[in-house]
Amino acid sequence: MATSRYDALFEPVRIGPVTAPNRFYQVPHCTGMGHALPQTLAAMRGMKAQGGWGVVCTEYCSIHPSSDDHPHPFAALWDADDVRNLALMTEAVHAAGSLAGIELWHGGSFVANLASRLPSIGVSSMPARTEPWQSRRMDRRDIRAFRRWHRESALRARAAGFDVVYVYPTHGYLVSEFLSRSLNTRTDEYGGSLQNRARLFRELLEETRDAVGDRCAIAVRYSADGHGDAHLSSEESKALLEEVGPLADLWDFVVADYYGEEMATSRFVAEASFEHKIAGLRALVNRPVVSVGRFTSPDTMLRLVRTGVVDFIGAARPSIADPFLPTKIREDRTEDIRECIGCNICYAHNYRGAPLRCTQNPTLGEEWRSSWHPERVPRDGEGTVLVVGAGPAGLEAALTLARRGFEVTLADAASEVGGRVVKESRLPGLGEWIRVRDYRLGQLQRMPGVSLYLGQSLSASAVRDFGADHVIIATGAVWRRDGRGRTHSSALPELRIPVYTPDDLMSGRCPSGVVVVYDDDHYYLGPVLALLLARAGCQVHYVTTESRAGAWSHYTGEQEATQQQLLSAGVAIQVCQMVVGATADAVQLACVYTGAPSSLPSAALVVVTSREPDETLYRALVGEDPPEHRRIQAIGDCDQPALIAHAVYAGHRAGRELGHASAACSRDRWVAAASASDQAEALGGSVIGDTIILA
Ligand code: ADP
Ligand code: SF4
Repeated sequence: MATSRYDALFEPVRIGPVTAPNRFYQVPHCTGMGHALPQTLAAMRGMKAQGGWGVVCTEYCSIHPSSDDHPHPFAALWDADDVRNLALMTEAVHAAGSLAGIELWHGGSFVANLASRLPSIGVSSMPARTEPWQSRRMDRRDIRAFRRWHRESALRARAAGFDVVYVYPTHGYLVSEFLSRSLNTRTDEYGGSLQNRARLFRELLEETRDAVGDRCAIAVRYSADGHGDAHLSSEESKALLEEVGPLADLWDFVVADYYGEEMATSRFVAEASFEHKIAGLRALVNRPVVSVGRFTSPDTMLRLVRTGVVDFIGAARPSIADPFLPTKIREDRTEDIRECIGCNICYAHNYRGAPLRCTQNPTLGEEWRSSWHPERVPRDGEGTVLVVGAGPAGLEAALTLARRGFEVTLADAASEVGGRVVKESRLPGLGEWIRVRDYRLGQLQRMPGVSLYLGQSLSASAVRDFGADHVIIATGAVWRRDGRGRTHSSALPELRIPVYTPDDLMSGRCPSGVVVVYDDDHYYLGPVLALLLARAGCQVHYVTTESRAGAWSHYTGEQEATQQQLLSAGVAIQVCQMVVGATADAVQLACVYTGAPSSLPSAALVVVTSREPDETLYRALVGEDPPEHRRIQAIGDCDQPALIAHAVYAGHRAGRELGHASAACSRDRWVAAASASDQAEALGGSVIGDTIILA
């Protein structure tokens, strides 16, 4: 086999009793699938193994009903049924020659047990993360029971076929509560000195080894910089590592600041941001080390391995955005990597209790339900397609159709391909978002049968004259100027002040002096535009109908950093206020609760409220009652203004389904399952698998 400069990344690495085929390691990450969607989960993890990830792990996997993170779909290993569920995943991972890892987890005081209704347990009685109730302080019997549950689930993990079993004393969950100086107020042998606080952790390591040691490796996910001085200082953390290092076969290093650093978005943190915190720990533990850092650059990966910082390249998000990243590096096709843009839309969906989706990878989560492969589409296209609009939706549709074998023309009124991502990626912190365009454009430019027409706005007659067999309209949406949106269902009356929209600012038409940015959208754009104006020298008032800046970005883990960033930039933040009007030199506000009026002197108003779908061309072609055949269809923001992830998904779906009689070309198993259960209910029966059983 030819050698490549990245060969070092493809060396097998021994982890205790098992050997990973290479250095690519998908660390535990949430999926929004967990125990709820085992087939979807298994197919998704299996796809990563096919793509070359040498180790593929579960998400946090509950060992007992007293650790129930409902409504977040965590994995579970409570009983023999869970063993069967998770065996689907290990089989899928093993089929591709990779190792399967499982992160055994108990949430301690953090979880609320909304579904199981058991009292949560903790080192002391503390409030649950989100609910107004507390955990029960564990006594010795509880500790013995917990150790037994952990051991039993380790045995179940082995029975399910896992090769790597985690002990997990991090991220604020139960075992880290015991390590914590402040939370652990016990006076028994589990409290007080570091030795005592670490007793439970050591016991779990020894008991897990005893349960699975001859067959499975033991990994520990551990915070490289302690847990903050109130809990475990970095000195204590290092002392502990030195002592227990050899008790595990692999150390998976993370950092204490989960949202601010480990899981931070590209708006706030760059690739490999905490390398300096990991460096040196490998020598301390004397075991193989894995760590993450949103790595997408093969050169960074190679450097980290060569310099001995890590043995494995850990990844969650880069493996979601491109399950075939390792294969592309091995085959020297680095230009084909679909790089993660660091937006955390994946995480947000898990947070909402929904299956993972990815801005860059529209097939993620659809491997089982729709039989979508991230790299392959059936080559069954025949004829010509005109795609109007080269934003994320149009680009993805064009790429998928070209892969199917259609002759594709992609047209855009702009002189540059990319639609909204071109404009948005120029805003503060959003630079990596251009990868949405770059990946697709790079692929299209290397494909035969693809033509690009830029710089000309197409009319309905131009589209008809073009004479394509199929037409896809992806003309996007424009930000409204009249203030309509979530709070105001009709236009704001009497805005006598100069009003700007996000589109104005993104095309370089910006106000100066004192400016009110009115955010009724609640995601990133309002805060990012406020920052843009503050950096340009404006005195900015950020006004939102929500109770904090960029409220929805709570789900992407960015809210705190967003608010901090605005405050540091000198932006004045006004929450729970709606704009109700404006004179020539002031914006009128009202409290969203009481209606109490106030006024902000200002020279301009920027309204970030909602968007108008640009369906002019689509309607000119099909009218209000489009024909059923869908030879002309609208996708993306012109159909439904939404996230970039929605637009990419719509483009992919349209690309896959074009020319097929119905959406049934993708085996939509959730729909099939739902209709089977409807039928069963009507017949008074039940459904097992795909079969309706009549009573
Ligand atoms: P989406 O997110 O749905 O892909 P975007 O707003 O990112 O939507 O992209 C829409 C693209 O469509 C823009 O680049 C815009 O220039 C282009 N566009 C809109 N109307 C026309 C038209 N009539 N002819 C050609 N291109 C158009
Ligand atoms: Fe990366 Fe965004 Fe995809 Fe998550 S959703 S993997 S952050 S591109």
